[in-house]
Amino acid sequence: MNDLKLTDSATVDGAVFGSASFKDHEQVVFCNDRDTGLKAIIGIHNTTLGPALGGTRMWKYEREADAIRDVLRLSRGMTFKASISGLNLGGGKAVIIGDSRKDKTDALMQKFGEYVNSLSGRYITAEDVGINTHDMEMVKLKTDHVTGIPVEMGGSGDPSPVTAYGVFMGMKAAAHYKYGSDDLAGKRVMVQGIGHVGETLVKHLSEAGAEVLINDIHRDRMEEVAAKYGASIHEGDVFNTHYDIYAPCALGATINPDTINRLSADIVAGAANNQLADEVRDGLALQNKGILYAPDFLINAGGLINVYSEIAKYDRAEALRRTEEIYNTSLQIFRTSELEQITPHAAALKIAEDRINQVKAQRN
Ligand code: NAD
Repeated sequence: MNDLKLTDSATVDGAVFGSASFKDHEQVVFCNDRDTGLKAIIGIHNTTLGPALGGTRMWKYEREADAIRDVLRLSRGMTFKASISGLNLGGGKAVIIGDSRKDKTDALMQKFGEYVNSLSGRYITAEDVGINTHDMEMVKLKTDHVTGIPVEMGGSGDPSPVTAYGVFMGMKAAAHYKYGSDDLAGKRVMVQGIGHVGETLVKHLSEAGAEVLINDIHRDRMEEVAAKYGASIHEGDVFNTHYDIYAPCALGATINPDTINRLSADIVAGAANNQLADEVRDGLALQNKGILYAPDFLINAGGLINVYSEIAKYDRAEALRRTEEIYNTSLQIFRTSELEQITPHAAALKIAEDRINQVKAQRN
């Protein structure tokens, strides 16, 4: 195992932060507005490569500590995602505490925009779980530091289809490495979470001739997606059956000692951020079980590449071309991991950290 640099654990309100802690972040901002009911946290992890860009997630966290934990882990992941994708961006992320189906209002999103604006461009926002392009339109009324706005407003639109395309590329690279061919025809793939990204991934997979199983907490979504793409609905526990490829596309930390024990698959390749509950322990456990893990922050970077085009002024075709590169980068990571006897996650992290350290060194 190589010398992976992990930060110390820290606790707030009893929650263990594991690989993300305050002392690692440049800035963490708590936003509270009684009139709209907005409760949000913005995490800025590292701005060495550029302004911290990362989506906003709206989720019904049970405890505020869970929201803090999520924003710290997610913003850290964005730093490495931008770095490994060669983008001049830092890592940041925001979470809004609440149920996006019930609590979200235009006024709440506009108030959130005011908070983003108060950071003067150190943090740039976009969509994540529970947030859509209309919400970004509301944010845009209050700040220019927003991406992922609708195409009609001069933006790059919903980043999710590009994210899904990148995940598909990463999955194909993993299949190439594992099976000697990237043909996914006949492969049994479990897509857990069929939201914005998951649904498009299902589309790519069914077009490629894969046998697709879908899982979501919303029955209506599963029925809709199953009917559209001929996928099979798998309700409840996704770890009680065999498939070739597991594609986590819901929330993070679905890969932990309990699930690894029960996971019967050759490859893990999905869109969710922070899939490994503990990146060292669980990355190693997957490797020891012979399961190839395609690092999440590498293969789900398509959306970030796409929203970055709003700042860097390149177009959709160029964003897709850069996203397609995820295939080659993934292959390179798998080879490095084998050569250096480290996990793919550690290999990807090393490349991402090296780029940040080089830029830092050039400045000093
Ligand atoms: P989304 O909110 O559109 O979809 C998430 C889906 O997961 C929903 O259908 C939800 O019902 C389902 N879900 C939630 N909990 C679940 C559970 N326990 N079991 C099964 N299904 C569950 O979100 P999205 O934009 O599709 O993003 C999916 C994941 O990909 C997230 O982790 C997100 O952070 C990550 N991601 C998204 C993008 C992007 O461009 N949208 C980019 C990079 C990473």
